[in-house]
Amino acid sequence: MNIHEYQAKELLAKFGVGIPAGHAALTVDEAVEAAKKLPGPLYVVKAQIHAGGRGKGKFKELGPDAKGGVRLAKSLDDVKHDAEEMLGNTLVTIQTGDAGKQVNRLYVTDGVDIAEEYYLSMLVDRASGRIALIVSTEGGMDIEEVAHSTPEKITTITIDPAEGFMPHHGRAVAFALKLSGDLNKQAQKLSKQLYDAFVALDCEMLEINPLVETKPDSSGAAQLLVLDTKMSFDGNAMFRHPDIEALRDESEEDPAEVEASKYDLAYIKLDGNIGCMVNGAGLAMATMDIIKLNGAFPANFLDVGGGATKEKVTEAFKIILSDPAVEGILVNIFGGIMKCDIIAEGIVAAAKEVNLSVPLVVRLEGTNVEKGKEILETSGLPIVSANDLGDAARKIVAETKKAA
Ligand code: GDP
Ligand code: MG
Repeated sequence: MNIHEYQAKELLAKFGVGIPAGHAALTVDEAVEAAKKLPGPLYVVKAQIHAGGRGKGKFKELGPDAKGGVRLAKSLDDVKHDAEEMLGNTLVTIQTGDAGKQVNRLYVTDGVDIAEEYYLSMLVDRASGRIALIVSTEGGMDIEEVAHSTPEKITTITIDPAEGFMPHHGRAVAFALKLSGDLNKQAQKLSKQLYDAFVALDCEMLEINPLVETKPDSSGAAQLLVLDTKMSFDGNAMFRHPDIEALRDESEEDPAEVEASKYDLAYIKLDGNIGCMVNGAGLAMATMDIIKLNGAFPANFLDVGGGATKEKVTEAFKIILSDPAVEGILVNIFGGIMKCDIIAEGIVAAAKEVNLSVPLVVRLEGTNVEKGKEILETSGLPIVSANDLGDAARKIVAETKKAA
């Protein structure tokens, strides 16, 4: 699960992390009011979408010379003008895809006088099974590009969960950022605060790009501030964090995926034309593989889970069919906990309810398989039965081609 920049910053601030002052806004008036609460004279108006690269992004509705989704504003009039241009329009960045994302929220922040931009992120590293801290002096840029062209400028530090965050980890971060004196101390403190936040909030990923060093003030003091942040959470841990769950912005998610999650269905939309309904993630992956092996592409990943009911199967059908690219459906169920006759009843009821107009191939195996097959055969619906996975994949690819 992802959240917006302003929400992530508010969460981090609770751990003592330094962030520029700012307020979220849903309307132009709110944006101006937000700016009035800030010291000025420099403000930053930032589009809040679940994607990065906003600064270099382009608005579909505005000309190619218009500014992007992160704008420096020098007056309240500029804030008003920027808010008017951004709200309701579609921002396309390297992370949104060509369709872009509509901007419905803004974040108006205090403009920071930047001396240096750094990069710092944390993620659960599957290779080491630990939380990895990734730091670089090359902040504000696309980190994939830095990793590709100058990998020596990226330092990775992993933390043993049994040991936890130790002072030497903080020193390693400060050293990698080439900081000295007070800034070095700030970097050590900040990395510990970020680690604590990461663990306490069950984050999956926390990216700060850029982390900035401010220009020294009149007393010569500089600060490390989190200027931009992206945060995502482990969905399986969200039951422990109702306050974070409440930050979910469904308008940022794929509508079919939102619908699926309501019924506890693991659904991920893909680019192909064969809809799949499978029980078990491993079997679902194998089913997608074998569709590809037969020269077609899956339209989705869908795991109905171990204990699916008739209602769940019906919803799964509706969700698969809500994708206009679907030209055929392959159901592959291994009835163990779930009995084949229940599945068959669900399939028949769902096919009738949704007025199924595309070919449907069903492969059932396991408990009560004979009863299940009989229900399908006597349903009067044009359901094609398959005997094994290979047979099922060949049949759905052939049926889909025939229907096209
Ligand atoms: P992103 O483009 O989605 O990654 O959005 P960011 O929040 O990272 O902003 C993009 C860039 O805008 C940053 O790398 C900075 O160079 C610049 N920027 C953002 N906020 C400020 C600010 O307060 N002051 C100044 N001078 N530049 C800023
Ligand atoms: Mg950024």
